[in-house]
Amino acid sequence: MDWDDRKTSGRIGVLSAHFQSPPPPLMASSEKDAALAATPSDGPTIFDKIIKKEIPAKVVYEDDKVLAFRDVSPQAPKHIVIIPKLKDGLTGISKAEERHTEILGYLLYVTKLIAKQEGLNDGFRIVINDGPKGCQSVFHLHIHLLGGRQMNWPPG
Ligand code: AMP
Repeated sequence: MDWDDRKTSGRIGVLSAHFQSPPPPLMASSEKDAALAATPSDGPTIFDKIIKKEIPAKVVYEDDKVLAFRDVSPQAPKHIVIIPKLKDGLTGISKAEERHTEILGYLLYVTKLIAKQEGLNDGFRIVINDGPKGCQSVFHLHIHLLGGRQMNWPPG
């Protein structure tokens, strides 16, 4: 049953669709559980190991400031994680300070380059999860680039 079916299935569903917010989309509970179990910290993360090439990753872009690799648990046909190589306190976007504006802008620019490189010419989505309620599980700022399928709104 997809989102539209769940929103309107049955008489109650039809009525409630008129009077209530639609139900949230189905969610990968393992992602949510991982995020809720994660402890926000400024310590090393798995992304440091990827930066140091201590564990393998499917790298799609790299320069002196940014690394981008395919998500190990893709939520779309194209799902790429874009990170700053130097964390500099950026465990998440909520920790951003004025000194980070250059790298934050650069990350967005690189995201656009990668979207083009991946052929996402009809559109894509970028996501930054923050904190447990934002479903963040790795505390090293990262942008998710998702594409290759129709996105839905609202997100889960
Ligand atoms: P978030 O939940 O926003 O913190 O996103 C962390 C993302 O990192 C998740 O989508 C994970 O699937 C992804 N991830 C975790 N470990 C790896 C890994 N070793 N290689 C690639 N992606 C990973």
